[in-house]
Formats: sequence, structure tokens, C-alpha cells
Amino acid sequence: MTQKPSLSGVPARELVGILSRLPSYRAGQVFEWINKGIESFLEMDNLPLALRRELDECFCLRKTSLIKKLEDSDGGAAKLQIGVSGGIVEGVLLSDGAGRRTACLSTQLGCAMGCVFCRTGLMGLTRNLDSAEITEQFYHIRKLYPDIANIVFMGMGEPLANLLELRRSLQVLCRTMSPRRITVSTCGLADGIIRLADEGPAVRLAVSLTTAREDLRARLMPVSSANPLRRLKEALLYHQRKQGRRVTLEAVLLGGVNTGTEDAAAMSAFAEGMNAVVNLIPWNPVENICFEGIPLKEPSGADIMCFRAELEKRGLKTVLRRKKGRAVCGACGQLGAAAGSGH
Ligand code: SF4
Repeated sequence: MTQKPSLSGVPARELVGILSRLPSYRAGQVFEWINKGIESFLEMDNLPLALRRELDECFCLRKTSLIKKLEDSDGGAAKLQIGVSGGIVEGVLLSDGAGRRTACLSTQLGCAMGCVFCRTGLMGLTRNLDSAEITEQFYHIRKLYPDIANIVFMGMGEPLANLLELRRSLQVLCRTMSPRRITVSTCGLADGIIRLADEGPAVRLAVSLTTAREDLRARLMPVSSANPLRRLKEALLYHQRKQGRRVTLEAVLLGGVNTGTEDAAAMSAFAEGMNAVVNLIPWNPVENICFEGIPLKEPSGADIMCFRAELEKRGLKTVLRRKKGRAVCGACGQLGAAAGSGH
């Protein structure tokens, strides 16, 4: 049996085209319902019943299904395993100390970028997710955990390697949440950053920099050979000029690898001239991950504090990310790990 086409994840303007037989306000009503997360056309009670039945015959509203929910004992994090055609992707819910909830979404099944510290990178890429598969992760999370304050694209996959479907999903999600509350995190694809700046939506941008030492970055993140730091910085400055938003530089801190004074000096030089904040993310352990034959380890508390002090001494603003999601392997770099990925 062939699957009916899905209307979830379809931007409002496209929906008007698909439902062109109907007055455009009807397409608007259908869009609003879908973006509320309803799972049946029959629930659209401001549409005539005959139209609801007709839509139900021709289209579907879910391409994905919730398979499993794993929750931290303190309720601060949850990982949702979501079935998509050909595999399972993971959406994560994180709560901060003030109880604000953030939904972390995946854009690919696996990832081709191969960052050595990341479990998802070990999986390789199976395929891109489409906009329905991306937005439905948000609907699944919101159904269980309402009042989500932020969305981050930091789950499995490199969002800018799937720019077309990423942008379609953003066009949908920006009707639910202000673009100021949505962050796309990239490992540093310069062309994608420029295209996102040109084409929008004007969401926040984070870059998984990890280190601003060119030689070390090339060894940790293969993406940097085609996207050297100078090119990456030009793209970030371009994005900043176009969008006027502060950029987040993410640094996954790897014990004994990238937390020295030299690393702080390089990061500070990279950030010069940029309106940036450095998000420090102590590496979350994943079994069997080695860097040049040596198992990676977490940074010590002293490493983290010294590195942060070195950055702040050089005038950089920093934020230290609280350890969240570890018990469910939903933390950064752990998606796709045994308890069940990502940036
Ligand atoms: S850190 Fe992000 S870009 Fe790098 S391998 Fe993991 S998911 Fe892919």
C-alpha cells in the first residue's frame, strides 16, 4: 500500500498550493491545526465534516511514531526515540535550573561529518530527514512536555547539510515560536551559514568550534579541511552582519586535548571582531571513542575552570553548560549511544 502524502512539516505557503482547490483561508486553518500537533483531520472542528473526511482520505498527518521515552530520574531531561522510515531518530527534551524547557531536534538519520568525539559521527549518514520528520519530533516532545521555551537543532546530524528540509521545517516552527528562540547548531559549513543568512529564517546560530587551533581542529573535525577557520570566520561575520544576532561558539571540552592556555588564546583570536559568547560543554563520555588511539576522557573540574578563566581574562563571555541528559544518553555527542547522538 502506498503511503498517503503527509501534510505535516509543510510550510503555510506550500500548503496553499497543495490545497489550491480550497479558499486560501481553509489552507490557513489546516496549517494552524497541524502546527498545534493534532494527529487526525477529524479534530479540525472549524472545517466542514465532509472536508475533514476528504482530507483524511487523501493525506496523512504523521510519518513518524514515538517508540520509546527515556527520562532522567530528576525529570531534567528525556530522550524520545522516534521511528522514521529506515531507522530511529532521537529528539531530546532538556530543562534548565529555572524549569525552562528546550527541545533538541535531529535533522539527519546519522551524520557524515565524523567529528571524533561524537557517537552519532561514528554511525555515518543513512539519510536526510524531511521537514515532516523534523517537525514531528517537536510535536512528539511537546505533547509530553508542553510549554517549550526554545528549540535547538543540535541532535543527530548536521543541519546545514540538509538545508532545504531544515529551512522548510524552520518556516513551520517559526509560526509556533519566535526565531529568536530557535538555534541552529552547525559544525562549521561556511557555505551553509552564508545561505542561511541570505535565505533565512533569521534564527540564532551556534557553531561547534571545539578548538580554534587549525591543526587540532582538522584532527578532531574532518569538516574543517574544507572549511578552514578563516573561511568559517568570514561566514560567521557575514551572518552576523545580515542577521544582527550574537553567535554562539560551542566548545566541547575534551580532557587534556583542547583546554590549555594556547587553546584559549586561539579561541579569543578567532572571536575577535565578532559578537560572540562561548558555550563550554564538558564532553559527555561515550564508550569506545578514541582520539588518535587514546580513549577520550572528560575534562577535570580544574581544567574547565582554568580554561574558562583564560577565556574571560581575554574578554570573552562564557556560559558553562550544566550536565544534562547523561542518564538517558541524550547529552551532546551521545545520541545514538547504547541507552537508546549529536552536536
Ligand atoms: S558533532 Fe554534530 S556534526 Fe559532528 S558528527 Fe556529531 S552530529 Fe555530526
